[in-house]
Amino acid sequence: MNAPLARSRTMPRAPADANIGVLRERGQREVFCGLTSIVWLHRKIQDAFFLVVGSRTCAHLIQSAAGVMIFAEPRFATAILEERDLAGMADANSELDRVVDDLLARRPDIRTLFLVGSCPSEVIKLDLARAAQRLSVRHQPQLRVLNYSGSGIETTFTQGEDACLAALVRECPVAAPDSPPSLLIAGALPDIVEDQFCRLFSAMGLDRVSFLPGRRSTDLPAIGAQTKVLLAQPFLGETAQMLVDRGAERLSAPFPFGVEGTTAWLESAALAFGVSPAAFSQAVAPAQARGRRAILAQRTWLEGRRVFFFPDSQLEPSLARFLHEELGAVPVEVATPYLNRDLVGPELERLPPGSRLVEGQDVDRQLDRCRAERPDLAVCGLGLANPLEAEGIATKWSIELIFSPIHGFDQAGDLASLFVRPLLRRARLKGLKA
Ligand code: SF4
Repeated sequence: MNAPLARSRTMPRAPADANIGVLRERGQREVFCGLTSIVWLHRKIQDAFFLVVGSRTCAHLIQSAAGVMIFAEPRFATAILEERDLAGMADANSELDRVVDDLLARRPDIRTLFLVGSCPSEVIKLDLARAAQRLSVRHQPQLRVLNYSGSGIETTFTQGEDACLAALVRECPVAAPDSPPSLLIAGALPDIVEDQFCRLFSAMGLDRVSFLPGRRSTDLPAIGAQTKVLLAQPFLGETAQMLVDRGAERLSAPFPFGVEGTTAWLESAALAFGVSPAAFSQAVAPAQARGRRAILAQRTWLEGRRVFFFPDSQLEPSLARFLHEELGAVPVEVATPYLNRDLVGPELERLPPGSRLVEGQDVDRQLDRCRAERPDLAVCGLGLANPLEAEGIATKWSIELIFSPIHGFDQAGDLASLFVRPLLRRARLKGLKA
């Protein structure tokens, strides 16, 4: 079945965000900081270590978000900097050197060390870029040391991944001008999803495909004019810009969530590499059919349900498109921390006319709108979930959508079920009370 292929090849769509009003809010925000992304990045990049340079608060956040016991030897830690003045910065640098020496003595398998900045004032005073350079020289060639910021002042929780990948792009070699065209998938994907996409690209006849980040930090793809980039996540604005600045071409597409999103995403690669419509359909048809069957099983629960998105992960426009287009839900408000129209334009085109799009947050005003709308489901951060549940509104934690494998055809049913579960739970509770 290739209806989506035919539709997206032949049917012109309305310009991005036609009929969609955008409300911009710059009030109080309720989001996690970029350190949170270490939770999934350290699982993906298997020879990297993330050393947060921060406070005890940062250590608590990362330890409890990752839920890992110390004896499990996780590939992240926090170097805690206590209060100190500028005169104490030389001590801070030598303390950092000592921590890294100790770490490498215990973990000689580490090939890339990320120094991750945070927001306490004593960390802001420290020049982590210079520290990374110094430590790289000291430990080369065994270790590469990079730095980026996960500070809550500068980043929401998914922007931590963007900053990390941007640091990796700086290290990617330059592709030779005569190298054949290649496809780069940018965005951390669980290994199982990466393997599924590899099989689909291979079935389409595309073999020069690489992933950023890869499983090994030392396997960095060469970037150049022959590199075509597909983003796997909508929150990678800085990474995408750096890849384009390096000469790569970014392919514009909806993101690979659900069957329609995944089809359109893969199709943009097929078009860029000259794969015929017949070869494309043949390659994706079995997985498409599996995905459609899985989604159908969830549709009765979501059809006609009104969903309200609080801004959190930057996946909101993509997930609203998925819920509307593939499950018949009604997105009453789609709020996202930042709206990068270049990246999410193809998603906005598929939202129903009249959807209320919000960029940024003013949490009290937004809660008022949510209460007035009385949606069937609110997708929100952890801090807002309990109060909304207490007011009778079913909630889905948006962070769960980042921690779970949700990309691709074979995860489409699981993605739908993540939204169904809170509705089922609420229906059961109502049944118990009746
Ligand atoms: S980086 Fe800032 S917001 Fe994040 S845990 Fe540390 S102190 Fe808190």
